[in-house]
Amino acid sequence: MRNDTIVAIATPAGVGGIAVVRVSGSDALSMALSHLSVGTLEPRHATYCRFDDIDDGIAVYYPAGYTGEPTVEFSCHGSIYVQQAIVQAFVDSGARMAEPGEYTMRAFLNGRLDLSQAEAVADLIDAATPAQHRLAVSQLRGGYAEELKALRQQLLDLTSLLELELDFSQEDVEFADRSQLQDLLHRLTDAVTKLIASFRMGNAIKHGIPLAIVGAPNAGKSTLLNALLNDERAIVSPIAGTTRDTIEETLVIEGIPFRLIDTAGIHQSTDTVEWLGIERSRKAMKEAEIVLCVCDSTAKDDETEMILEELKNRKCLLVVNKADLMDNPRFGNIEPGSACYWISALTGEGIEELKHGIAELVGVNRDASGILLSNARHLEALRNVAAALRQVENGLSDCIPADLVAVDLRDALYHLGTITGDVTNDEVLGNIFSRFCVGK
Ligand code: GDP
Repeated sequence: MRNDTIVAIATPAGVGGIAVVRVSGSDALSMALSHLSVGTLEPRHATYCRFDDIDDGIAVYYPAGYTGEPTVEFSCHGSIYVQQAIVQAFVDSGARMAEPGEYTMRAFLNGRLDLSQAEAVADLIDAATPAQHRLAVSQLRGGYAEELKALRQQLLDLTSLLELELDFSQEDVEFADRSQLQDLLHRLTDAVTKLIASFRMGNAIKHGIPLAIVGAPNAGKSTLLNALLNDERAIVSPIAGTTRDTIEETLVIEGIPFRLIDTAGIHQSTDTVEWLGIERSRKAMKEAEIVLCVCDSTAKDDETEMILEELKNRKCLLVVNKADLMDNPRFGNIEPGSACYWISALTGEGIEELKHGIAELVGVNRDASGILLSNARHLEALRNVAAALRQVENGLSDCIPADLVAVDLRDALYHLGTITGDVTNDEVLGNIFSRFCVGK
């Protein structure tokens, strides 16, 4: 079934200037030629031709396309009728409609991509901000998978040697150099630990870094949210405690996506509805990676100090709002290096400096070399690898028999292999590729 010829529209659903129909599989070329007004297609050359009497367009033949198989792509006019008629013509010739992600799955099965790269294709298609794009591209280009692959190969070699010793168990020989094994285990554990630790940030970038805006009622949280978003999303009201619910918005600052969480004021309240809001505020504060604590420069409140106390050792900026009401207003980070910003959410002064401060606080390694883990399936596998490696280390230091150590080594190898797809099963593949859209 995996060698049959499949067809799908590769461009987004709907009307467009151009649409691309892609057909892939052993019969792709002959099928395409049976509909085209030309007798042959030169590999990797654009040929202007007619497709039956449906449309004129450009056909390109790849002997080993994206999938690693013969592939023909036909660019036609982006009418829904034309797209469907061309797909139907291929189906009438014996092609099958592609399943979601089937092109990328074939690319993986044909060795064009490893599994982590195939997953990166989905992330790249979903990327909406520069940081998400960087993350996906780094994984697509090999990222940490290359390093893990190389370490896995070395571990595989040593494990095989260790297992060979078992065949000679009567003779007390050591093929696998123990200090080399120890050294490799340390390097692997180091790489795995670093990747696991980077997941929090990698995942945050993938889904948006949660940022909470907290502070006393009327400090100007909703106004600040609007100023950050540049629109009127939250209802601003001069009555204390009007922001009763949490509101989520996404905001991109210097290429990094944030999920903004506006919260009700944190203070003691007897109003039950408002009290529920406060519970949510605390929850938001807990879940947030970054917290902006807003206070009113013209009013004394009891909350700010309490909030700052609660946020000790967290990524938090104190935002002193309504600076426009002061006699000598000053804006921005007026004490260089401090985590305190003076702004006017109303006039917008100091907002740009604050945005910059937020981006700095995230501290994402912004050059492409900063490798971040963002794939939850890989995280799970790496945790299993780490556990198996700990067992191996313990086994070696307790001098337990080589055959038992080998079992844990095989376990580590297995889980490492699931990341790149060196070991896999249909269920895992089905899970990964069904999340793609049809035609990818
Ligand atoms: P929240 O309860 O913390 O969400 O506070 P709001 O955003 O609803 O603001 C409370 C009141 O303060 C509103 O009347 C705002 O217009 C006003 N306000 C907010 N920020 C500023 C500011 O920077 N300067 C001035 N003068 N007023 C502000």
